[in-house]
Amino acid sequence: MIGDIEAWLFETLVQPAIFELGLMAYIEDAFTWTQFALWGVIQIAVIYLVCRPLEAWRPVEPRADGAAIRTDVIYTLLQRLGVLPLLFFVLFTPLSAWFDGLLRDAGYVPRTIDQWVPALAGMPLVTFLIYALVLDFAEYWRHRLQHGLNWWWALHSLHHDQRQMTLWSDNRNHVLDDVTQAMWMGAVAQLIGVEPGTFPLLVLLFGLVESLSHANARIAFGRFGDRILVSPRFHREHHAIAFRPGEPARACNFAALFPLWDMLFGTARFDGRFAATGVEGRTTPEAIGRGWLMQQWLGFGRFLRALVPARGADRTEGGRQHEGA
Ligand SMILES: [Zn+2]
Ligand SMILES: [Zn+2]
Repeated sequence: MIGDIEAWLFETLVQPAIFELGLMAYIEDAFTWTQFALWGVIQIAVIYLVCRPLEAWRPVEPRADGAAIRTDVIYTLLQRLGVLPLLFFVLFTPLSAWFDGLLRDAGYVPRTIDQWVPALAGMPLVTFLIYALVLDFAEYWRHRLQHGLNWWWALHSLHHDQRQMTLWSDNRNHVLDDVTQAMWMGAVAQLIGVEPGTFPLLVLLFGLVESLSHANARIAFGRFGDRILVSPRFHREHHAIAFRPGEPARACNFAALFPLWDMLFGTARFDGRFAATGVEGRTTPEAIGRGWLMQQWLGFGRFLRALVPARGADRTEGGRQHEGA
Protein backbone atom coordinates (compact mmCIF):
# COMPACT_ATOMS: atom_id res chain seq x y z
CA MET A 1 0.00 0.00 0.00
CA ILE A 2 2.83 2.35 0.82
CA GLY A 3 4.20 1.58 -2.65
CA ASP A 4 0.89 2.70 -4.21
CA ILE A 5 0.83 5.98 -2.29
CA GLU A 6 4.47 6.52 -3.21
CA ALA A 7 3.74 5.99 -6.89
CA TRP A 8 0.66 8.21 -6.77
CA LEU A 9 2.50 11.04 -4.99
CA PHE A 10 5.36 10.79 -7.41
CA GLU A 11 3.25 10.74 -10.55
CA THR A 12 0.77 13.45 -9.58
CA LEU A 13 2.98 15.89 -7.71
CA VAL A 14 6.70 15.33 -7.98
CA GLN A 15 7.11 14.24 -11.59
CA PRO A 16 5.10 17.12 -13.11
CA ALA A 17 7.08 19.57 -10.97
CA ILE A 18 10.36 18.05 -12.12
CA PHE A 19 9.33 18.36 -15.77
CA GLU A 20 8.06 21.87 -15.23
CA LEU A 21 11.39 22.90 -13.73
CA GLY A 22 13.39 21.11 -16.41
CA LEU A 23 15.19 18.93 -13.85
CA MET A 24 14.70 15.59 -15.59
CA ALA A 25 18.27 14.55 -14.81
CA TYR A 26 17.28 14.34 -11.15
CA ILE A 27 14.23 12.17 -11.65
CA GLU A 28 15.70 9.17 -9.78
CA ASP A 29 16.81 11.29 -6.85
CA ALA A 30 13.36 12.82 -6.78
CA PHE A 31 11.80 9.38 -6.50
CA THR A 32 14.14 8.53 -3.61
CA TRP A 33 13.14 11.76 -1.94
CA THR A 34 9.44 10.93 -2.38
CA GLN A 35 10.11 7.63 -0.60
CA PHE A 36 12.01 9.39 2.19
CA ALA A 37 9.35 12.04 2.60
CA LEU A 38 6.49 9.56 2.74
CA TRP A 39 8.38 7.42 5.20
CA GLY A 40 9.02 10.57 7.24
CA VAL A 41 5.34 11.49 7.31
CA ILE A 42 4.52 8.00 8.59
CA GLN A 43 7.25 8.28 11.24
CA ILE A 44 6.07 11.69 12.42
CA ALA A 45 2.44 10.50 12.53
CA VAL A 46 3.33 7.40 14.58
CA ILE A 47 5.56 9.39 16.93
CA TYR A 48 2.98 12.12 17.40
CA LEU A 49 0.13 9.71 18.02
CA VAL A 50 2.14 7.83 20.63
CA CYS A 51 3.93 10.69 22.41
CA ARG A 52 1.57 13.65 22.31
CA PRO A 53 -1.21 12.02 24.42
CA LEU A 54 1.46 11.04 26.98
CA GLU A 55 2.71 14.63 27.12
CA ALA A 56 -0.85 15.89 27.62
CA TRP A 57 -1.55 13.24 30.24
CA ARG A 58 1.48 13.64 32.50
CA PRO A 59 3.57 16.69 31.57
CA VAL A 60 6.83 17.19 33.45
CA GLU A 61 6.60 20.98 33.06
CA PRO A 62 4.23 23.47 31.41
CA ARG A 63 4.83 24.28 27.74
CA ALA A 64 6.02 27.80 28.48
CA ASP A 65 8.26 28.48 25.50
CA GLY A 66 6.23 27.95 22.33
CA ALA A 67 8.94 29.44 20.07
CA ALA A 68 11.53 26.96 21.33
CA ILE A 69 9.15 24.08 20.65
CA ARG A 70 8.35 25.35 17.15
CA THR A 71 12.07 25.45 16.36
CA ASP A 72 12.33 21.78 17.34
CA VAL A 73 9.39 21.02 15.05
CA ILE A 74 11.42 22.57 12.20
CA TYR A 75 14.37 20.32 13.08
CA THR A 76 12.08 17.30 12.99
CA LEU A 77 10.49 18.22 9.66
CA LEU A 78 13.88 18.90 8.03
CA GLN A 79 15.28 15.63 9.29
CA ARG A 80 12.34 13.30 8.84
CA LEU A 81 10.79 14.67 5.69
CA GLY A 82 13.98 13.82 3.98
CA VAL A 83 15.52 17.19 3.20
CA LEU A 84 18.64 16.35 5.18
CA PRO A 85 18.56 12.58 4.59
CA LEU A 86 18.33 13.19 0.85
CA LEU A 87 21.34 15.43 1.01
CA PHE A 88 23.22 12.71 2.87
CA PHE A 89 21.95 10.07 0.49
CA VAL A 90 23.33 11.92 -2.53
CA LEU A 91 26.54 12.44 -0.57
CA PHE A 92 26.73 8.92 0.80
CA THR A 93 25.95 6.79 -2.21
CA PRO A 94 29.47 7.21 -3.64
CA LEU A 95 30.92 7.16 -0.11
CA SER A 96 29.28 3.89 0.78
CA ALA A 97 30.35 2.35 -2.54
CA TRP A 98 33.90 3.47 -1.77
CA PHE A 99 33.69 1.98 1.75
CA ASP A 100 32.33 -1.26 0.33
CA GLY A 101 35.23 -1.42 -2.14
CA LEU A 102 37.68 -0.74 0.68
CA LEU A 103 36.24 -3.58 2.75
CA ARG A 104 36.32 -5.98 -0.17
CA ASP A 105 39.90 -5.02 -1.05
CA ALA A 106 40.83 -5.80 2.53
CA GLY A 107 39.25 -9.21 2.04
CA TYR A 108 36.19 -8.47 4.18
CA VAL A 109 32.90 -9.30 2.55
CA PRO A 110 30.07 -8.06 4.79
CA ARG A 111 27.84 -10.94 5.75
CA THR A 112 24.37 -10.79 7.21
CA ILE A 113 23.88 -12.12 10.72
CA ASP A 114 22.15 -15.28 9.54
CA GLN A 115 25.14 -16.00 7.32
CA TRP A 116 27.32 -15.89 10.45
CA VAL A 117 24.82 -17.82 12.54
CA PRO A 118 22.71 -19.99 10.22
CA ALA A 119 20.43 -20.94 13.13
CA LEU A 120 19.04 -17.39 13.04
CA ALA A 121 17.88 -17.74 9.44
CA GLY A 122 14.24 -18.34 10.34
CA MET A 123 14.11 -15.80 13.18
CA PRO A 124 13.74 -12.32 11.68
CA LEU A 125 12.75 -10.75 14.99
CA VAL A 126 15.85 -12.03 16.82
CA THR A 127 18.04 -10.94 13.91
CA PHE A 128 16.42 -7.51 13.99
CA LEU A 129 17.04 -7.22 17.74
CA ILE A 130 20.71 -8.19 17.34
CA TYR A 131 21.14 -5.51 14.67
CA ALA A 132 19.45 -2.99 16.97
CA LEU A 133 21.76 -4.00 19.84
CA VAL A 134 24.92 -3.64 17.77
CA LEU A 135 23.85 -0.28 16.30
CA ASP A 136 22.87 0.94 19.75
CA PHE A 137 26.30 -0.08 21.07
CA ALA A 138 27.88 2.01 18.30
CA GLU A 139 25.54 4.90 19.09
CA TYR A 140 26.40 4.67 22.79
CA TRP A 141 30.10 5.21 22.03
CA ARG A 142 29.42 7.96 19.50
CA HIS A 143 27.38 9.74 22.15
CA ARG A 144 30.13 9.35 24.76
CA LEU A 145 32.60 10.87 22.35
CA GLN A 146 30.18 13.74 21.67
CA HIS A 147 30.46 14.53 25.36
CA GLY A 148 34.12 13.66 25.79
CA LEU A 149 35.73 15.57 22.92
CA ASN A 150 35.58 19.34 23.13
CA TRP A 151 34.93 19.99 19.45
CA TRP A 152 32.22 17.39 19.38
CA TRP A 153 30.58 18.72 22.51
CA ALA A 154 30.60 22.16 20.88
CA LEU A 155 28.28 20.70 18.25
CA HIS A 156 26.28 18.31 20.42
CA SER A 157 25.58 20.93 23.09
CA LEU A 158 23.07 22.40 20.62
CA HIS A 159 20.97 19.31 21.34
CA HIS A 160 21.32 19.94 25.07
CA ASP A 161 20.51 23.66 24.91
CA GLN A 162 16.79 22.95 24.89
CA ARG A 163 15.21 23.94 28.19
CA GLN A 164 11.75 23.08 26.97
CA MET A 165 12.21 19.45 25.99
CA THR A 166 9.39 17.79 24.05
CA LEU A 167 8.83 14.89 21.68
CA TRP A 168 10.21 17.17 18.94
CA SER A 169 13.63 17.61 20.57
CA ASP A 170 15.23 14.38 19.36
CA ASN A 171 16.13 15.83 15.95
CA ARG A 172 17.49 19.05 17.36
CA ASN A 173 21.07 18.59 16.19
CA HIS A 174 23.71 20.47 14.30
CA VAL A 175 23.79 19.46 10.62
CA LEU A 176 27.45 18.47 10.97
CA ASP A 177 26.34 16.14 13.74
CA ASP A 178 23.58 14.75 11.54
CA VAL A 179 26.18 14.05 8.87
CA THR A 180 28.50 12.29 11.33
CA GLN A 181 25.66 10.24 12.71
CA ALA A 182 24.50 9.14 9.28
CA MET A 183 28.06 8.14 8.36
CA TRP A 184 28.64 6.35 11.66
CA MET A 185 25.39 4.40 11.59
CA GLY A 186 25.68 3.73 7.87
CA ALA A 187 29.22 2.38 8.20
CA VAL A 188 28.35 0.11 11.12
CA ALA A 189 25.22 -1.14 9.34
CA GLN A 190 27.33 -1.90 6.29
CA LEU A 191 30.00 -3.67 8.38
CA ILE A 192 27.51 -6.00 10.04
CA GLY A 193 25.58 -6.64 6.85
CA VAL A 194 22.21 -5.06 7.64
CA GLU A 195 19.98 -5.69 4.63
CA PRO A 196 18.86 -2.47 2.87
CA GLY A 197 15.22 -3.36 3.54
CA THR A 198 15.82 -3.73 7.27
CA PHE A 199 17.68 -0.47 7.76
CA PRO A 200 14.63 1.86 7.50
CA LEU A 201 12.86 -0.27 10.11
CA LEU A 202 15.83 0.10 12.45
CA VAL A 203 15.82 3.85 11.85
CA LEU A 204 12.09 3.87 12.67
CA LEU A 205 12.70 1.98 15.93
CA PHE A 206 15.47 4.39 16.97
CA GLY A 207 13.33 7.38 16.00
CA LEU A 208 10.33 6.17 17.92
CA VAL A 209 12.18 5.35 21.14
CA GLU A 210 14.30 8.51 20.96
CA SER A 211 11.34 10.82 20.36
CA LEU A 212 9.52 9.21 23.25
CA SER A 213 12.56 9.54 25.49
CA HIS A 214 12.60 13.32 24.86
CA ALA A 215 8.87 13.74 25.49
CA ASN A 216 7.74 16.16 28.15
CA ALA A 217 6.10 13.29 29.98
CA ARG A 218 6.49 11.98 33.49
CA ILE A 219 6.86 8.45 32.22
CA ALA A 220 9.07 5.63 33.41
CA PHE A 221 8.92 1.93 32.72
CA GLY A 222 9.35 0.82 36.31
CA ARG A 223 12.36 -0.51 38.19
CA PHE A 224 12.86 -3.37 35.80
CA GLY A 225 11.57 -1.80 32.56
CA ASP A 226 13.80 1.27 32.92
CA ARG A 227 16.77 -1.08 32.73
CA ILE A 228 15.48 -2.76 29.57
CA LEU A 229 14.49 0.19 27.37
CA VAL A 230 15.40 3.89 27.55
CA SER A 231 12.46 5.76 29.09
CA PRO A 232 11.71 9.51 29.20
CA ARG A 233 12.91 9.51 32.81
CA PHE A 234 16.19 7.79 31.92
CA HIS A 235 17.02 10.18 29.08
CA ARG A 236 15.90 13.28 31.00
CA GLU A 237 18.64 12.53 33.53
CA HIS A 238 21.08 12.75 30.63
CA HIS A 239 19.71 16.21 29.80
CA ALA A 240 19.69 17.47 33.41
CA ILE A 241 21.47 20.80 33.91
CA ALA A 242 22.96 19.57 37.17
CA PHE A 243 22.32 16.69 39.48
CA ARG A 244 23.20 18.55 42.64
CA PRO A 245 25.21 21.75 43.09
CA GLY A 246 28.75 21.05 42.01
CA GLU A 247 27.97 17.66 40.56
CA PRO A 248 28.58 17.43 36.81
CA ALA A 249 25.51 16.58 34.79
CA ARG A 250 25.21 14.94 31.39
CA ALA A 251 27.79 12.34 32.27
CA CYS A 252 25.29 9.52 32.42
CA ASN A 253 22.62 7.66 30.48
CA PHE A 254 24.13 7.89 27.00
CA ALA A 255 22.27 4.96 25.46
CA ALA A 256 19.59 5.57 22.84
CA LEU A 257 17.71 2.28 23.09
CA PHE A 258 19.15 -0.06 25.69
CA PRO A 259 20.33 1.13 29.14
CA LEU A 260 22.35 -2.09 29.15
CA TRP A 261 25.35 -0.22 27.69
CA ASP A 262 25.28 2.40 30.45
CA MET A 263 24.97 -0.32 33.05
CA LEU A 264 27.89 -2.27 31.55
CA PHE A 265 30.20 0.74 31.25
CA GLY A 266 29.29 2.36 34.56
CA THR A 267 27.42 5.40 33.28
CA ALA A 268 23.86 4.48 34.26
CA ARG A 269 21.88 6.54 36.77
CA PHE A 270 18.45 5.62 37.99
CA ASP A 271 17.80 8.48 40.40
CA GLY A 272 14.19 8.70 39.33
CA ARG A 273 14.17 12.50 39.02
CA PHE A 274 12.63 14.64 36.30
CA ALA A 275 15.17 17.44 36.44
CA ALA A 276 15.29 20.77 34.59
CA THR A 277 17.10 20.43 31.26
CA GLY A 278 19.61 22.61 29.46
CA VAL A 279 23.26 23.61 29.42
CA GLU A 280 24.59 25.36 32.49
CA GLY A 281 25.26 29.04 31.89
CA ARG A 282 23.36 29.20 28.61
CA THR A 283 20.10 30.78 29.60
CA THR A 284 19.47 33.71 27.29
CA PRO A 285 18.06 33.50 23.76
CA GLU A 286 21.35 35.09 22.60
CA ALA A 287 23.37 32.23 24.09
CA ILE A 288 21.02 29.51 22.87
CA GLY A 289 19.96 31.10 19.61
CA ARG A 290 16.43 31.70 18.39
CA GLY A 291 15.43 29.67 15.38
CA TRP A 292 17.11 26.95 13.35
CA LEU A 293 19.51 29.12 11.37
CA MET A 294 20.78 31.06 14.38
CA GLN A 295 21.36 27.88 16.36
CA GLN A 296 23.25 26.30 13.48
CA TRP A 297 25.37 29.40 13.16
CA LEU A 298 26.12 29.58 16.88
CA GLY A 299 26.90 25.85 16.94
CA PHE A 300 29.34 26.25 14.06
CA GLY A 301 31.05 29.14 15.86
CA ARG A 302 31.45 27.06 19.02
CA PHE A 303 32.81 24.23 16.90
CA LEU A 304 35.44 26.46 15.30
CA ARG A 305 36.44 27.91 18.67
CA ALA A 306 36.82 24.41 20.09
CA LEU A 307 39.04 23.45 17.16
CA VAL A 308 41.25 26.47 17.74
CA PRO A 309 41.35 26.59 21.55
CA ALA A 310 44.10 29.22 21.58
CA ARG A 311 41.58 31.75 20.34
CA GLY A 312 39.52 31.20 23.48
CA ALA A 313 38.03 27.92 24.52
CA ASP A 314 34.30 27.85 24.99
CA ARG A 315 34.41 27.78 28.77
CA THR A 316 31.93 30.30 29.96
CA GLU A 317 28.86 29.09 28.15
CA GLY A 318 28.98 25.52 29.32
CA GLY A 319 31.33 24.53 26.58
CA ARG A 320 33.54 22.32 28.68
CA GLN A 321 32.17 18.89 29.02
CA HIS A 322 33.68 15.97 30.77
CA GLU A 323 32.69 12.48 31.49
CA GLY A 324 34.13 12.93 34.95
CA ALA A 325 31.41 11.21 36.91
ZN1 LIG B 1 24.08 14.08 24.96
ZN1 LIG C 1 18.68 13.84 23.93
